[in-house]
Amino acid sequence: MKALSVLGSTGSIGTQTLELAEEFPERYRVVALTAGNNLALLVDQIRRHAPEAVALADPARLNELRERLQALSADERPARLPELLAGSDGLCAAAAWPSADLVVTGIVGCAGLLPTLAAIRAGKDLALANKETLIAAGPVVLPELEKSGSRLLPADSEHSAIFQCLQGTPYAETARLSTGTPTPGLRRIQLTASGGAFRDWDPADLVKATVADATSHPNWSMGRKITVDSASLMNKGLEVIEAHYLFGLDYDHIEIVIHPQSIIHSMVELADSSVLAQLGWPDMKLPILYCLSWPERLHTPWRRLDLTEVGQLTFRKPDPAKYPCMELAYAAGRAGGTMPAAMNAANEQAVALFLEEQVHFLDIPKLIDAVCERHKADLMAAPSLTDVLAVDAWAREAVREAAALVAA
Ligand code: NAD
Ligand code: MG
Repeated sequence: MKALSVLGSTGSIGTQTLELAEEFPERYRVVALTAGNNLALLVDQIRRHAPEAVALADPARLNELRERLQALSADERPARLPELLAGSDGLCAAAAWPSADLVVTGIVGCAGLLPTLAAIRAGKDLALANKETLIAAGPVVLPELEKSGSRLLPADSEHSAIFQCLQGTPYAETARLSTGTPTPGLRRIQLTASGGAFRDWDPADLVKATVADATSHPNWSMGRKITVDSASLMNKGLEVIEAHYLFGLDYDHIEIVIHPQSIIHSMVELADSSVLAQLGWPDMKLPILYCLSWPERLHTPWRRLDLTEVGQLTFRKPDPAKYPCMELAYAAGRAGGTMPAAMNAANEQAVALFLEEQVHFLDIPKLIDAVCERHKADLMAAPSLTDVLAVDAWAREAVREAAALVAA
């Protein structure tokens, strides 16, 4: 029985992880949950999974959670109510919960950084969905992983695909992740991208893009922030940096290819020029399950891939003029040090302002670019955790200031 701590349990990754725990009750039990705001769903999850601990991001809502749990009828209430925690310390305690074997990081954004580090320092294995943490703090997270021996299993579908492809090679052990050192024999990674909400839009029409447009993804059902990142292709840019840290390849050997059907989830090219790909329907449950079951494969009754039903798999190069965020991410990755942290925080803040309709979709890359330009003079090549957190806070503030000028 593997014990799971699920960070961000009320989100898209979190709810799918809990569905898997219910699908395989003989293999997985849930010992800790953390959530942001959706208390109704959280209470339902507590009822169904009876975790030992629950942490809320916002301490001010702890009483409300307590009251909701007390209001449950006797037959709804779990035999033992969980220990209730809150705030940053509470999230970290849930991430490092003693009985947990594997921590699923489904918090969105750099808010996941401290809980992820807490899990690593406690020696937990991680199912990494929260890519922003690795992107912002790769230089801090990787040495911690090496020290603690925690294993970083990629839940992001592309990185799971790469990880799965490497299992069939002599390099499986190195790719068992990840200290940022090059995976021997791995020559090139091709990350596939659906192209997001604006895939079939003429770039000239993007001036008309609304929040509703940017948050309707053609292939995947995900949280709002990552859906906007998919529309701008920033998500793929972030995944390039994620792949760099996970598999140790330099940026010249990590490429993006638009693949509208999202059937091939990414490809690796090996030393002898062989290219391996992993295929499946676009469904996050498989990459999450692989994190839970690795190195085993579990039998599932899920819909099986039928390529004759798909008909065609097509590929094209992404247009850098249509997707400036992609190039911003490559540039930040190449600059290294604190630049990815500045870029990631600028993107998080710009996307949040876009979702609040304070700035336009096309302002997102402009705001990020301005922040990265300003950060060049202050870039730290080997930052500490404190440095990363300071750059993250600075970049958010810089975007808010710049956005106020745009709005004025
Ligand atoms: P989501 O918005 O659906 O869920 C986010 C979760 O984090 C929620 O439980 C929310 O309550 C919690 N949360 C939000 N802000 C928080 C804060 N400040 N402190 C603590 N908790 C907070 O997001 P998602 O789509 O599930 O994405 C989660 C992570 O997984 C992201 O990093 C995303 O890039 C990554 N990811 C998601 C998918 C997907 O299919 N959804 C695929 C690949 C990677
Ligand atoms: Mg992905």
